[in-house]
Amino acid sequence: MSADLFTDPDARPYAVMLPLPLPGALDYLSAEPLVPGDYVAVTVSGRETVGVVWGEGAGEVAKLKPVLRKLDLPPMPEAMRGLVDRAARYTLTPPGMMLRQATRAPGLLEPEKRRVVLMRGPVEPEKMTDARRRVLDAVAASPGRSAADLAREAGVSGGVVKGLVETGALEAHQAPQDRPPPRLDPGFRVAKLNAEQSEASEAITESIAAQKFEALLLDGVTGSGKTETYLEAVAACIASGRQALILLPEIALTADFIRRVRERFGAPPVEWHSGVTPAARRRAWKAVARGQAQVVAGARSALFLPFSDLALIVVDEEHDQSYKQDDIVPYQARDIAVLRAAQEGCTAVLASATPSLESWINAETGKYRRLTLRERHGPAVLPFLSAIDLRADPPEKGSWLSPELLGATRDVNARGEQALFFLNRRGYAPLTLCRKCGWRAGCDQCSAWLVEHRGRGALLCHQCGWREPFPRACPECGTEDSLAACGPGVERIAEEARERFPLARVEILSSDQTPDPKVLQDQIKSIADGGADIIVGTQIVAKGHNFPLLTLVGVVDADLGLAGGDLRAAERTFQLLNQVAGRAGRAEKPGRAMLQTTMPDHPVLRAILEGDAHRFRTRLSEERQQARMPPYTRLIAVIVQGEEEEKVWQVSRDLAAAGSVLTEAGIDIFGPAPAPYAMLRGKHRVRMLLRMARGIDHPRLVPAWRAKVKVPSGVRVIFDVDPYSFL
Ligand code: ADP
Ligand code: ZN
Ligand code: ZN
Repeated sequence: MSADLFTDPDARPYAVMLPLPLPGALDYLSAEPLVPGDYVAVTVSGRETVGVVWGEGAGEVAKLKPVLRKLDLPPMPEAMRGLVDRAARYTLTPPGMMLRQATRAPGLLEPEKRRVVLMRGPVEPEKMTDARRRVLDAVAASPGRSAADLAREAGVSGGVVKGLVETGALEAHQAPQDRPPPRLDPGFRVAKLNAEQSEASEAITESIAAQKFEALLLDGVTGSGKTETYLEAVAACIASGRQALILLPEIALTADFIRRVRERFGAPPVEWHSGVTPAARRRAWKAVARGQAQVVAGARSALFLPFSDLALIVVDEEHDQSYKQDDIVPYQARDIAVLRAAQEGCTAVLASATPSLESWINAETGKYRRLTLRERHGPAVLPFLSAIDLRADPPEKGSWLSPELLGATRDVNARGEQALFFLNRRGYAPLTLCRKCGWRAGCDQCSAWLVEHRGRGALLCHQCGWREPFPRACPECGTEDSLAACGPGVERIAEEARERFPLARVEILSSDQTPDPKVLQDQIKSIADGGADIIVGTQIVAKGHNFPLLTLVGVVDADLGLAGGDLRAAERTFQLLNQVAGRAGRAEKPGRAMLQTTMPDHPVLRAILEGDAHRFRTRLSEERQQARMPPYTRLIAVIVQGEEEEKVWQVSRDLAAAGSVLTEAGIDIFGPAPAPYAMLRGKHRVRMLLRMARGIDHPRLVPAWRAKVKVPSGVRVIFDVDPYSFL
């Protein structure tokens, strides 16, 4: 076959992008004419792989491998190919790895399975029986169903349906095996928006109708109805026959969201996240590509779905850290969402009660249009916030809950309401040490302490997942029962709560306590229905769950996030504490939040207590500007890692020595220095940080710099553009 291909006068080379870490597209030969965006099957190292035609190829015809076949899929739109190229360039990632995000559906290579469906034929049956009438009515109501489905629906035997096919009253047709997703009805149950909400919703709807790129920041306090508001814009979007994508930060949140979409539109959205089965992923991917999926709700990876007519992207809880993916392809989904909207010429809505500083500044400077919801919907009011000064009102020795917080808990529980103790630390205790010899339990593979998880009788490394049974005696000096827990995690707070309130039902809400998202969803629902009196939770409780009976939030250690001192410590603490406090009093009952702190005068805590977000952000942005920090500049983290420490340092020193390529262009280089986690999973890590003006062409300069250094095998140089983690 390939011999023919080489002499075929129609055979042409095409550049095909493959979902692999290659610097660019590879050339393949095809006699069948192809256009950019066509999906094709090719072989790479003997394996059949999906590729996408990126353009014309060059290459010597005789040396090229053939395109095996063109796949029966709608071509990848130009906007999407542009997104892959631009996102890859910006993040310093091989374009094929970005493409991989877009072809992560099973079964793309396989021919589509077909099934037989029945439609009304031109002939009237000669003999009309009751049973036949019911079948024909069922077909009229919804054509295109299988014989078995029809028989079941009409309550007749298979023979009746078969008879109708034989007379020609029904005709058999071939249809794709995958059925299109259920249709959403924009008029199913229209919400009555309040004045603020309708104004915002109309602004989004007008932006969609304008069919050009615009980014809007939907800045609304917790419980103000942001979801309610953007769902009305989604309604307008699907009414005009176009597609909407809604990104959610956490798959534990999707169940509640799916329910709301179903209530609003009479059918659920298409889901796309790690909890979706392979078959459902295949169906979802194709339904999106064919324009049959009206609304997709999903995790950040849904950004790379091949929408054919995308009109609206919503990034809900846009400030959420989980939008920054730190895997092999590091990207910030919020930024990619805006980039995609720009490529598509459509509307992006970033929604949050505590917008990221980046988005807030973009709204201040007019780059994004700001839509504001100031009030909670209906009778709900924002919680009353106060600080508990732990220096003046300390907990008893060996405990963590202050008398004032305990008193308030007693009061709300007595009224049948719930209290939440928030501590962003999993497990029982973050550090275990020997009282006799001072030994501390650390991970062999990481520079990190092992965290005791008492429920599981184990010590765990939160960095690499290493787990070992909790030792009975000190591994160093052999003394029995000498190991002491230092500091609290949620398990320890729950233990204290159970001691203080023996009759209360205490529940821990933490991702590792309930790793199965389904179980977690059930637990959240049970708590929302009143199945707990006291909830002890990590940051997962901050993420948009509605607990109507919750009226008291106690932040166990409000100082915790401020200690780290990284770029976003203040901002993150502000967001987290505001979101957690926002869990209280979301229904009729007013709520309050109490922040236990040793520094009630800290500017971040003052800003939270005074509720003056605008002043806080203004200050923060001035600080960033003065310190020449993002978003006024751009940072790129460089991580050099490998098993052999000497090699890692050699590469780091070589990179530093080659730095003139960067410094001459005005880029600052900090480091190399050992990373705070100098060892992770057995690999040594050295960090450097690049800082530059935002206009600098980093996609050209940084790879040129990297190319000057020989990197031996066993060492990797990783770039993280716009880093969120500095560890
Ligand atoms: P947010 O997304 O801003 O936190 P939600 O959209 O979840 O707020 O709304 C908070 C609560 O108020 C939800 O229970 C929601 O159903 C209710 N709500 C908000 N707006 C309306 C409205 N216009 N009509 C009826 N209920 C509303
Ligand atoms: Zn010891
Ligand atoms: Zn470890």
